Amino acid sequence: MKTNNTTIEDRIQYFEKNYNILVDVNLVGDKSHTIRIDGLRKCRFCERNEGEVTFKKEAHAFSELIGNRTLLTNYECDSCNEHFSKYLENHLANYLGPARTFTLTKGKTGVPSYKTADESSRVDVKSGEIVVQTMADQPMFVEDEKNKLITFHATKPTYVPVAVYKTLVKMALSILPENEMDAFKTTAKWLLSTDHSKVFMRPCPMNFSFTNGLKPHPFIKAMVFKVKDLSLDVPFMQFFIAFDNFTFQITIPTEQDLRLQGKTATIQAFPSIHEVSDTENETKHALADMSDWNPVKGSKVEVQLAYEKKRCPNSNPGATAHNSRYVMRHFCPS
Ligand SMILES: [Zn+2]
Repeated sequence: MKTNNTTIEDRIQYFEKNYNILVDVNLVGDKSHTIRIDGLRKCRFCERNEGEVTFKKEAHAFSELIGNRTLLTNYECDSCNEHFSKYLENHLANYLGPARTFTLTKGKTGVPSYKTADESSRVDVKSGEIVVQTMADQPMFVEDEKNKLITFHATKPTYVPVAVYKTLVKMALSILPENEMDAFKTTAKWLLSTDHSKVFMRPCPMNFSFTNGLKPHPFIKAMVFKVKDLSLDVPFMQFFIAFDNFTFQITIPTEQDLRLQGKTATIQAFPSIHEVSDTENETKHALADMSDWNPVKGSKVEVQLAYEKKRCPNSNPGATAHNSRYVMRHFCPS
């Protein structure tokens, strides 16, 4: 498969020419909504019925770790729910790593804290402010007081690339109309395998973008695109999701794409609203093949943060730890 980074117009044309919008979800507001399938309850993933499995837990269409508290489904059983949280979601959390702290992405229990591996330094978010506690003799960041910029040098926790991808595929399948699930039965089985080395489709292309600014995507937006015609040399379906500072785009793996074997299929990045109309906040893209099942350990990430004010409540000259409280303006990974 091939991905081209071309102009915004080319990218818009690519989607207009090849795809219909099958699903467009915008999670605005605090009101919960459950996507329901009436009749006997059956799990979309393991295909077991109520009686064989239970449906007591709240099943979130998108992981809570990206800030979804409102969109639920009634077709994910407790057993699959546990599987996804135990074997998949942590990998997406670790892949996002310290970025979730700096972008104030609220998970199940608020914005996650970031700690260094030896726990000598940490970053917490309290009342919307970033509180940094670090060893004075080995600070975790470099500060440019004149320009009010600090650059953190952080390490992502270990993650498995294909498990990150599967977490996104799970979100995509959660919002598909029931009558589209026939093409994704093998996909669902693949998601339920605890053995991440079991290959279903390769490559697993994922486009990731980060837009500067304070929560440029203020609510979760998710879309599923379906190919207009099977004679077109593009993946059958693609999934796009935007939240806080991030967008992700993946192909939803399916046997339908076996028709592309031996051909060159093009994938373009769906342009977010910020790329089309925002002249203030820069968006950076990265494309990765996420099919690797080997754990990625110690991946370094640099996060730059601009702040409005800094407070040092505990500046005790004799102390080894140093506390600073920053009021954020905007931030960007570099
Ligand atoms: Zn199930």
